Amino acid sequence: VDGAAIPVLVIGTGYGGSVAALRLAEAGVDVHMLEMGMAWDTPGSDGKIFANTTSPDARSYWLRTKTKQPLSNFLGFPIDRAVPRYTGILDAEEFGGITVYQGRGVGGGSLVNGGMAVTPKRENFAAVLPSVNTGEMYDTYYPRANAGLGVNAIDPAWFETAECYQYARVGRKHAQRSGFPFVFVPDVYDWDYMKREAAGTVPKSALAGEILYGNNYGKKSLQQTYLARAKATGRVTISPLHKVTSVTPAAGGGYTVTVDQINTNGDTVATKTMTADKVFFAAGSVGTSKLLVKLQATGALPHLNGEVGKGWGDNGNVMCGRANHLWDPTGSLQSAIPTAGIDNWAAGGAFAEVAPLPTGIETYASFYLSITKNPHRAQFSWNASAGRAELNWQTAWKQPSIDAAKTIFDKINAKEGTIYRTDLFGVYKIWGDHLTYHPLGGAVLDKATDNYGRLHGHPGLYVIDGALIPGNTSVNPFVTITALAERNIEKIIAADL
Ligand code: FAD
Repeated sequence: VDGAAIPVLVIGTGYGGSVAALRLAEAGVDVHMLEMGMAWDTPGSDGKIFANTTSPDARSYWLRTKTKQPLSNFLGFPIDRAVPRYTGILDAEEFGGITVYQGRGVGGGSLVNGGMAVTPKRENFAAVLPSVNTGEMYDTYYPRANAGLGVNAIDPAWFETAECYQYARVGRKHAQRSGFPFVFVPDVYDWDYMKREAAGTVPKSALAGEILYGNNYGKKSLQQTYLARAKATGRVTISPLHKVTSVTPAAGGGYTVTVDQINTNGDTVATKTMTADKVFFAAGSVGTSKLLVKLQATGALPHLNGEVGKGWGDNGNVMCGRANHLWDPTGSLQSAIPTAGIDNWAAGGAFAEVAPLPTGIETYASFYLSITKNPHRAQFSWNASAGRAELNWQTAWKQPSIDAAKTIFDKINAKEGTIYRTDLFGVYKIWGDHLTYHPLGGAVLDKATDNYGRLHGHPGLYVIDGALIPGNTSVNPFVTITALAERNIEKIIAADL
């Protein structure tokens, strides 16, 4: 592909990039997708493509020699272990004040995430993206995204009896006894497949604890949905292990894109250039923001505006565990796919997923990932002397998230006579306040771009991923990222091609 001239290049193969590729290809446009991670289509020596959560190996982490598990400790003991350095699936990218978890590979975050597919409440969406027509989103683009992603709901009757959701039923009981609304959360996991896992008739994935490092069966990642359809058009090519390093106007029009081809050690084995009429930034909130602040500061894209890099947030993510009484076991068999949440957004600014702790043993613990209304926003900037993009998020900025989560869990603990677990994130540390799974923003819609993701100052450049969303979605973000991408690409195809 070195020296190739193509109509459209897409940087990244997550939600935004996959939507762009499919819809452009359907409109008759040839698309080339560049992805820094691996293809994840070939089994390893154990016959499986993905490693299990409980036994991380080389496949599990992006260029690390030691795992960096979101829950770093158990009963006070550190649980991280050495792994060979490899272009693995989960990146725990460390900035000054926060570790940002992201998927690496063809399918982006869909490879590693919980598949929780939540459409926010209408009034909350309107507060997040006021420039977007809410009616159009809820009438057209959210339904289109849900259909494209294969979102489905758990059978409520099965939920009541399934051994693997004992932990969620305990979560429901505690939520309801304290007066909080408990809501089922749709997912892209194939619930019928999970029933068959429970019945023992198919290979286990969610019921074998698979999640953070990929699901071998059952989960409809983008590889099974948008990307499969995109490839079936015959117009989409994907190059894995290709990392974009520069985009700059080409002499004859369009853009010159510079790409490092890397090996599984992360070393560059070739540097290529391509020319494209149009380039879509779909490298994720962090990937797109890092590229844009670098390209602006180094003069490669001098006309980007002052909003580039700004408006970044963590979707208010904070984790915690509660210690239950011995008469409230959460189960030694826990489905790795969460299916429920506690909604205290309107009153307390928190929506808490009842999350699994799929350790294979009874822990008497309830575990939660809360999404909270955190007002802090950070900014990416280019550090020229260090040659890298930096993010100015501070760990102390999680305090509003902790306060919001406490509106739920202080009340539950008081009602149940229980306490927080202090052994999951260190020794005597209650809050997992050092991380996010949900990076959002950095090239915010209607600020760094126009109202459809066209970057200001450079016609033919677009942002179409989580970077467009200003730091929070009030729920898990990927349905909103997908729906917004559906909206924007429809306009771009109609007006710009
Ligand atoms: P991504 O999906 O991050 O895709 C970006 C892609 O671009 C990546 O594949 C990356 O490798 C590639 N890339 C980056 N830089 C470059 C470059 N320079 N050159 C080439 N390629 C590049 N959300 C939910 O809604 N529900 C959940 O249950 C959920 N659970 C999660 C659990 C975990 C552990 C994690 C990490 C995330 C979870 N999320 C969840 C978040 C969700 O996965 C992300 O919001 C979503 O993937 C972001 O989509 P995106 O299109 O913006 O980018």
